[in-house]
Amino acid sequence: MLKGKTAVVTGASRGIGRAIAAKLASEGANIVINYVNRREEADQLTQDIENLGVKVLAVQADVSIFNQAQNLITRAKEEFGSLDILVNNAGITRDGLLMRMSEEDYDRVMDVNLKGVFNCTRQAVPLMVKQKSGRIINITSVVGLVGNAGQTNYAASKAGIIGFTKSLAKEIGSRNITVNAIAPGFIETDMTSDLPEKVKELSKESIALKRFGKPENVADAVYFLASGMGEYITGQVISVDGGMAF
Ligand code: NAP
Repeated sequence: MLKGKTAVVTGASRGIGRAIAAKLASEGANIVINYVNRREEADQLTQDIENLGVKVLAVQADVSIFNQAQNLITRAKEEFGSLDILVNNAGITRDGLLMRMSEEDYDRVMDVNLKGVFNCTRQAVPLMVKQKSGRIINITSVVGLVGNAGQTNYAASKAGIIGFTKSLAKEIGSRNITVNAIAPGFIETDMTSDLPEKVKELSKESIALKRFGKPENVADAVYFLASGMGEYITGQVISVDGGMAF
């Protein structure tokens, strides 16, 4: 149970982030939902979470912008009095072969996926150090572990998250703060829905369980790390990929 804890989930209006926010709320945590554009989805989730009997706040912020990320974390502490769990989930893709990739597509993916993790975590860590406890869970990808043609920008950002996670785990472990990453494989969300059928079929073939994952599969792993069960786990990358990359 996470009763009385405060969790911030970035990119919680849809997909994996939404499932994470719902799971942590169902386990009793008060939740700060972050979104960037989809206000309606965030409002709907706010309603759904309120119905679970916990406190919830939706904050619009582009995590790639330092001041907005700062405001997101500050609001959590102001509204709910603590910041116990930070889930850095917000992420985007701008796929393309390197030879055709624009500088803008490279930069945007790095800014949201990797700098966004820095921006939110930079603001959260001093609060957690003061509290003498905290859980930071970063959503990376199997692509950050094994690479993927057409995703040099995305893979670089996700591999960056892994280095960030391991380094920070060493920095703040003595403060009773754990820092881990979860590497999803192919999860059915808006991010993967537009992929060509051929790519989907090939991906499915490469998965030991021969099926795609659901956002809830990732949310369960986040809950495990955020709960008492995860108290002695830090600096790890846990794959939730049905056996896609091992
Ligand atoms: P999704 O369905 O496309 O949802 C993306 C979420 O991120 C939305 O809530 C979106 O907010 C938010 N977001 C995008 N840019 C943002 C920004 N600049 N600031 C704040 N929030 C922003 O994606 P998903 O599939 O759930 O993916 C979630 C995470 O899992 C990502 O980090 C992704 O890389 C990772 N992942 C996904 C898969 C997969 O197969 N789906 C696999 C491995 C890793 P709005 O709704 O407001 O636009």
